[in-house]
Amino acid sequence: MIPFVSRASQTEQDAWIATLSKALPEEVIVAFETLSCEQKQACDVAIVANPNPASLLELPNLKWVHSVWAGVEGMIAELDSPNFSIVRLVDPQLAKTMSEAVLAWSLFLHRDMPTYQAQQSRKEWHQRAMVRAQDRRIGVLGLGELGKTSALRLKENGFTVAGWSRSAKNITSIQCFDGEQGLYKLLQQSDILVCLLPLTDQTRGLLNKTTLACLPKNASIINFARGAIIDDAALLAALNQNINHAVLDVFSQEPLSSKNGYWEHPQVSVLPHISAPTHPDSASQIVANHIRTYREFGTVPQAVVLPRGY
Ligand code: NAP
Repeated sequence: MIPFVSRASQTEQDAWIATLSKALPEEVIVAFETLSCEQKQACDVAIVANPNPASLLELPNLKWVHSVWAGVEGMIAELDSPNFSIVRLVDPQLAKTMSEAVLAWSLFLHRDMPTYQAQQSRKEWHQRAMVRAQDRRIGVLGLGELGKTSALRLKENGFTVAGWSRSAKNITSIQCFDGEQGLYKLLQQSDILVCLLPLTDQTRGLLNKTTLACLPKNASIINFARGAIIDDAALLAALNQNINHAVLDVFSQEPLSSKNGYWEHPQVSVLPHISAPTHPDSASQIVANHIRTYREFGTVPQAVVLPRGY
């Protein structure tokens, strides 16, 4: 028996349990709340989506949990040194979806759509100088599952692409940077900066007054990772200086409060955390394959490195 542990609504939980059960018909997948004490003792694996940490502590023999989401920073923060492994969703479909969003919004910025929208509102006919894709430099922060796929898709579309990660990388046709010096080099040459970093102690507030000031004049930002990576006050100040436009899909507090100034800011596009939603069918197949391998060989998939935070 595998519990589905989640703070989602009952309807959402039922939908997940139905999709997971279809992908893994040999297992019995049930809502955590329906487990008896004996059943809780017997559980060695759980499937989770924003779980209540207290529920997981009621499963004393848990070896690992599989999240159906890619970002698990909330769970890591809420669980104090768990004695089970946390496996997050790594899904090629999710990477493809994210790269599509990154390309779409990069094209929005590259083809000056915010400026033409503003011109239309003023009934103003003014043709701006055209910039070729190869002359537009896009920097991608994070070259993991989502960042690498997005960087390659931007490259395929003709842009000049660079990326930054914690460890050194070698990706054909992408200029790769790492370390603090590498970050400053990447920022200085990013006409469009795309953030696809996980939220960790190291990345919280990484895009602040000092780092944002390194971007070239008239730069733009796309944040599709986590809101707290950007210092909001610093971004609002930079929108009056070197930053022309920000596309924000993620915020420190979600949903974004109706009082938040981003909603009406003419240089900000607000999205309601939709750049790469988990696709239940595809995610369930990934979870099912991992659980089958575990049942057959006892192998736990690659887990989050807790001290690193991702
Ligand atoms: P990932 O595979 O773990 O990749 C993370 C990348 O960031 C890696 O390249 C890593 O470097 C780099 N990194 C981490 N800490 C760093 C640091 N301190 N300095 C420099 N580089 C650092 O994660 P992913 O699957 O690509 O997902 C990235 C994030 O996207 C998730 O954590 C989640 O927050 C967000 N997300 C958003 C949505 C949405 O709809 N908006 C959907 C899914 C995910 P190394 O390669 O050296 O380890």
